[in-house]
Amino acid sequence: MSHPKTDFIQRLLILPLCLMPLTTLGEVIVIRADRIIVGDSAHALEGAAIVVEGDRIVSVGEQKIPPENARIIELGDATLMAGMIDAHAHPLLSSGDYQSLHLNQSSAYKSLRAAAFLQKLLQAGWTGVRVAGDGDVFYGAVDIKRTIDEGFIVGPRMAVASHYISITGGGGDINYASPEQSLIADGLVVDGVDEIRKAVRTEIKYGSDWIKVLATGAYLSVGDSPKNVSFSPEEFQSLVNEADRQGVPVMAHAHATAGIKQAVLAGVRSIEHGTFLDDEVIQLMKKRGTWLIPTIYIGDYYEDEGTLREDDRNTYYVEHERPVWISWLTKAHKQGVKIGVGVDFGGQGYTANVFAREFATLTEIGMTNMEAIQAGTRVNAEMLGWGEKLGTLEAGKLADIIAIAGNPLDDIRLLENVSFVMIGGKVVKSAAAKIRQSEMLSN
Ligand SMILES: [Zn+2]
Repeated sequence: MSHPKTDFIQRLLILPLCLMPLTTLGEVIVIRADRIIVGDSAHALEGAAIVVEGDRIVSVGEQKIPPENARIIELGDATLMAGMIDAHAHPLLSSGDYQSLHLNQSSAYKSLRAAAFLQKLLQAGWTGVRVAGDGDVFYGAVDIKRTIDEGFIVGPRMAVASHYISITGGGGDINYASPEQSLIADGLVVDGVDEIRKAVRTEIKYGSDWIKVLATGAYLSVGDSPKNVSFSPEEFQSLVNEADRQGVPVMAHAHATAGIKQAVLAGVRSIEHGTFLDDEVIQLMKKRGTWLIPTIYIGDYYEDEGTLREDDRNTYYVEHERPVWISWLTKAHKQGVKIGVGVDFGGQGYTANVFAREFATLTEIGMTNMEAIQAGTRVNAEMLGWGEKLGTLEAGKLADIIAIAGNPLDDIRLLENVSFVMIGGKVVKSAAAKIRQSEMLSN
């Protein structure tokens, strides 16, 4: 009998040369590491193994003698966990002056760049993303999702809101052009119940899984205020009702307290940002089971590393509003509001590993490292309606598994360096296997 480690090394040498897919249907893979975060308890399993067959997890637990022809992946001092899910992504947007870049980049160009970026995000351990509307005239994110689902490219699982629906003069409108200009804004700009209903129907017609609405103004767009509530109650309710009628969930960008309240009462599934919380809103969210996706790190990133048209507003936010927000989020977490991980970066102008810094900011609101990890895996999967098949490492679930060298329960920042990625039972990254991007794409 040959030693499993020698076997593994032999396979590593042979496979890349013959450009074979790294996993074939029905192949049994045993992944071993010092620790496994299953994702539904406060503790990690020690010295356990995961057995994967085809695209599914077969068992998680004690290391038994592996099946005769199983491929063994030994990761040693590493932690296995479910793939990370970004509940708030904008893969077609750019960092910096995204509204102007929207005007000089075609939908095709943005989509190609976004597809390449999503592959990098997958390599960084993000096996799922929810697109929170993109600055795109067409439906690029839906097309990317389709090419992934059809197997043309390998990328994360996607849920897509194609556009962010905004009022005239709101966060999705371009508010710095002269009245003579007629531009197609980065957001989908609509006013009145009829236009809103039509926008929802059009989003769904062209493949959106979610409706994204800007319930209040935004920080990064020019010429509106996060403290403004955008839609009239009648308009907002008609948006949620129409989406509801078609069984499509709504995610609402909301900063101002009154805007958060309007969105929660209207029946949205998730609040994005939720900057100006209060006790009443926290109780409402808890009662109605509304998810909260705060996206904390992006403001810190711009303060330290980025440049924005609205730099001064961001600096004011970081110095004056952020500390208050953190204390409200701490309270919301303590009260049992479901809080997930959303990053809110665009797909152009960042390196993928900074995305995982959102986990560390969640520990500022009193989450343990384990709670933060579960926020970005199990909690997000449940919000997306994926909880039955993803989000934890359990027998019967899809094998979206990542590994981190060391123990992120001791140091959450280790999530920035994911060393192993499997999606749907396919290994797409392994520090040991050194799979090249070109081979991954030739799948
Ligand atoms: Zn956003």
